[in-house]
Amino acid sequence: MTHQLPPLPYPYNALEPHIGEATLLLHHDKHHAAYVNNLNATLETQAALQGYDLETLLRRIGEVPEAIRTAIINNAGQVHAHTLYFEVMTPGGATAPHGALAEAIDKQFGSFAAFREQFAKAGATRFGSGWAWLVVKEDGQLALYSTANGDNPLMQGHTPILTMDVWEHAYYLNYQNRRPDYVSTFLGLINWDIVGAKYETALHR
Ligand code: MN
Repeated sequence: MTHQLPPLPYPYNALEPHIGEATLLLHHDKHHAAYVNNLNATLETQAALQGYDLETLLRRIGEVPEAIRTAIINNAGQVHAHTLYFEVMTPGGATAPHGALAEAIDKQFGSFAAFREQFAKAGATRFGSGWAWLVVKEDGQLALYSTANGDNPLMQGHTPILTMDVWEHAYYLNYQNRRPDYVSTFLGLINWDIVGAKYETALHR
């Protein structure tokens, strides 16, 4: 199986003025694309792993030969994370969680406001490069945390339903060093219909 770069699900200028066209062009066409290419290059000689889709590859990271494990983590993890990140920013849709996900967020974090605060903090305080995540654990509970670099929750059996890229390339052209400003903007860009649908799917996987 050759991994493909999914198209950006909306025009490159769709998130203006919050995330500019130049950022999305570089982020999708250069960064995201490079991770796909590097993943395929790493898998070229790995017949046993070529049948695995992205999620399976990350969930079964323990089966990946040690010599290429870091390359798989970095590249497969980044391909998966970027696809989810771009998708959850699709314009339109609900601006707050509703239904089962809203109930689960209230139960786990106290309120949507408390969730936003904790998610923003996870992203803003991640040292260096990484991601903030909202995941569904194997027991169906929600959890929120950040990871470094390309590390992906799928590697520990968690199913991501929302993620925020806090690598500098995600925000530097618009926000320079002001990561907290980017983080609060991101929270306003989330399409909660998409996150809610991913929650339902994760519960029934
Ligand atoms: Mn990125």
